[in-house]
Amino acid sequence: MSDSTTYDVIVIGGGPAGYPCAIRAGQNGLKAACIDEWKNYDGTHAFGGTCLNAGCIPSKALLESTELYHRAQAEFGAHGIKVGGLEFDLGTMQKRKSKIVKASTQGIQALFKAAGVTGLPGHGRLLAGNKVEYTALDGTKRELAARHVVLASGSAPMELKSVPFDGKAVVDSWGALEFDAVPKRLGVIGAGVIGLELGSVWRRLGAEVVVLEALEQFLWMADQQVAREALKHFRKQGLDIRLGAKVGGAKQGKTGVTLEYADASGTQTVTVDKVVVAIGRRPFTTDLLGEGTGVELDERGFVKVDHECRTAAPDVWAVGDVVRGPMLAHKGKEEGVMVGDLIAGRVSEVNYKAIPSVIYTAPEIAWVGLTEEEVKKSGRPYKVGSFPFLASGRARAMEATAGFAKLIAAADDDEILGVHIVGPMAGELIAEAVLALEYSASAEDLQRTMHAHPTLSEALHEAALGADKRAIDFPNR
Ligand code: FAD
Ligand code: AMP
Repeated sequence: MSDSTTYDVIVIGGGPAGYPCAIRAGQNGLKAACIDEWKNYDGTHAFGGTCLNAGCIPSKALLESTELYHRAQAEFGAHGIKVGGLEFDLGTMQKRKSKIVKASTQGIQALFKAAGVTGLPGHGRLLAGNKVEYTALDGTKRELAARHVVLASGSAPMELKSVPFDGKAVVDSWGALEFDAVPKRLGVIGAGVIGLELGSVWRRLGAEVVVLEALEQFLWMADQQVAREALKHFRKQGLDIRLGAKVGGAKQGKTGVTLEYADASGTQTVTVDKVVVAIGRRPFTTDLLGEGTGVELDERGFVKVDHECRTAAPDVWAVGDVVRGPMLAHKGKEEGVMVGDLIAGRVSEVNYKAIPSVIYTAPEIAWVGLTEEEVKKSGRPYKVGSFPFLASGRARAMEATAGFAKLIAAADDDEILGVHIVGPMAGELIAEAVLALEYSASAEDLQRTMHAHPTLSEALHEAALGADKRAIDFPNR
């Protein structure tokens, strides 16, 4: 059946890339709809995609609860706070997490209403000629017409063929957020962002966690000074991180799941009760494109787009995890908003050089811009300033002195090239550095910016001063 309404914009996918795109289009006075098919384990539909339902939000909820538990166990004593009979209740933790997820996803409906966006729960498939086949949750089909279509179908966990998901002993990241009991022994395959965050959650609740990572290098995408510092702390917390360990098979038996992996000394095994496969995510385009749409995919299955997120087909755009670039919610959101503006004829762009990365472990890790390794490789002369949280009055007061802030600036014109933080609240502190990069700030700009005392943000101020060997509170190299 075809619908007589012609939309200005139909967005397929209601995750953090798709729903902001629809809202911005609506704010711009365009007639917008957002189709989304997400189903939770209980079968209910919710907007918000992976991020709100099974990613960023539930993982941060559990990281927060378990971090508090860990601090009560390990740090309260130093503050002179005695805690007797400390216990956790996983059921309550999980219920709290679900409540937070629900509040976040239900908010999207209200946002759609305010922006005049039509939310359409169900499946969307792009047809030739900018038509969209919409299959509602009850199975009824309608053909919708649109001037512009935005693909925002996101990503799905990659499966390791030799260790297939079974939803019980071998799970993906979503499954690992839903455990109803703490596994005694947990195997995590992949020491990427997701593997480390989930490994931390269950380690803090007492699981023996072994993390198997194929690469010899820990956090290859991060500044290696930061990666080395983080690895030291994670190992101290009891995360058994084995690098250069490529998993090639699994056998389920009476004593658990035995993972087989190859490392420098040959074939090894480790037996665990549960396995989380966190080896990365792939673009999700299943049943997204009908015949003759003109949309092209690259060799890895991502929808091909230019710097403004235009696909090869006229007036078809694509944003978020389904296109090139880091698979991050905020990157998708900025792309969605840009497209919502561009369709309305407004000027907009995404600064791909200023995308912050955050790993919400303890200590947190956050960075923006180039790593020292990348700057070195570029051949551009540079200077570095760093400041350890051990020298920060606020960090000492917080009993959170692990890590440091590091700033890299060009030696020629003082431009800030990269900022790397491992330490307390790194994910919040990095916002200042993102703004600095956005404004092409120099190290001197940061040096001349007053920072409140005593705050953690002084670490970045001192790191900027340190780049010119002018730090006050730390004798920089
Ligand atoms: P998605 O969020 O995947 O949304 C796509 C939506 O489209 C889904 O609802 C899907 O059901 C729907 N869909 C797909 N195809 C169709 C179709 N044909 N018709 C209708 N609907 C369709 N990122 C961060 O920035 N910070 C974090 O802290 C963070 N933590 C994470 C933790 C975990 C455990 C995971 C798994 C991911 C995390 N991420 C984080 C990554 C983040 O979730 C993704 O980058 C983000 O969700 C991508 O947004 P998206 O809108 O492109 O896709
Ligand atoms: P990310 O892409 O950040 O989610 O990280 C996924 C991690 O999984 C990467 O660091 C990969 O090197 C790692 N990985 C991929 N395949 C395997 C494997 N078979 N065994 C162990 N680690 C793996």
